[in-house]
Amino acid sequence: MNIEDYHGVWVFLEHKSGSIVPVSLELLGAGRRLADKRGVSLAGILIGDGVKPLAEHAIAYGADCVYVYDAPIFKYYRTESYMKAIIAGCQKYKPEIFLYGGTSTGKDLASAVATDLATGLTADTTMLDVDAETGLLEASRPAFGGNIMATILCKKDRPQMATVRPKVVKALEPDYSRAGEIMEEPVELREEEIRTKVLDIVRFAVQRIRLDEADIIVAGGKGLGGKAGFEMIREFANTIGASVGASRDAVEAGWIEHHAQVGQTGVTVTPKIYFAIGISGAIQHLVGMQNSGLIIAINQDPNASIFQACHYGIVGDAFQIVPLLTQAFQQALGK
Ligand code: FAD
Repeated sequence: MNIEDYHGVWVFLEHKSGSIVPVSLELLGAGRRLADKRGVSLAGILIGDGVKPLAEHAIAYGADCVYVYDAPIFKYYRTESYMKAIIAGCQKYKPEIFLYGGTSTGKDLASAVATDLATGLTADTTMLDVDAETGLLEASRPAFGGNIMATILCKKDRPQMATVRPKVVKALEPDYSRAGEIMEEPVELREEEIRTKVLDIVRFAVQRIRLDEADIIVAGGKGLGGKAGFEMIREFANTIGASVGASRDAVEAGWIEHHAQVGQTGVTVTPKIYFAIGISGAIQHLVGMQNSGLIIAINQDPNASIFQACHYGIVGDAFQIVPLLTQAFQQALGK
């Protein structure tokens, strides 16, 4: 492999229900910065059935060019078909850096592409930079239980790939006057070449607001002592219109579903207000919520680490404080 042959930054443009997902727009912002630092172009790759109209949004959010693989074979996400389109694009255009959102689709796809292209992939990145001279992508992520940040380099192979957590980088303000190129790529893939067949799509009605999109989160930890403690904070959350989050220890105790876990191995959140109730403030939890606008902690241990990370701290028993807060908000809001 001649590394000098590889140029440009690419972003996989994941889409859902006819829109590019937020993390892909965020990555166009991050990719723009990397591409400008390197003096190269930023491209998006869009795969799907009837997705070409989305390309103009990617240009507005910072792409110079969008490669579109638009065909019925891409109607549903399947690892094999999407992977083959990406590999065709990489072999033809040789990008030096390739970014994916850290969603279930992005993680699935990136690992398949990295394996097939025999290149390096840094998973779950929380910070990105590039060395302008060498072109080495500096992909940083928590390592060794979150105690250090490791910056991972891929020196010998291209493209240098990373999946990036949602909400750790910012999207640019869209500018629909930006000019860019939309390249319709040929699709030679045949259905017989794809082993996975989608027989049916079963949709579940999801009532809750996704944690990574919530403006207010009330999160509980081991200090809540059990499911009853979570009922208590759920009542508070419902009163103030918040979503409920949790520490890993509370999830592992079976007090709340896994999707509520905030932190290194859970969701990264940046709500306007984050209540941490009965949570000690371990680094693995903090990395998932420390960028929240306002952090309010309730803990009975005045030396708990969460008090180093919060804006307001209440030292005391959650079982006394939370019902008082619920009552006060119910009165104030006339509920
Ligand atoms: P504890 O540390 O047990 O803290 C409970 C707190 O509740 C204490 O501070 C106590 O003073 C307080 N308390 C007790 N009773 C009351 C009361 N009545 N009122 C008020 N306060 C009270 N953790 C995560 O959260 N998310 C992750 O994604 C995550 N990933 C991890 C990945 C790895 C590789 C590893 C090794 C660990 C990970 N952890 C994660 C676990 C993390 O290290 C901590 O163990 C965990 O966050 C602790 O959860 P906690 O704060 O609920 O429990």
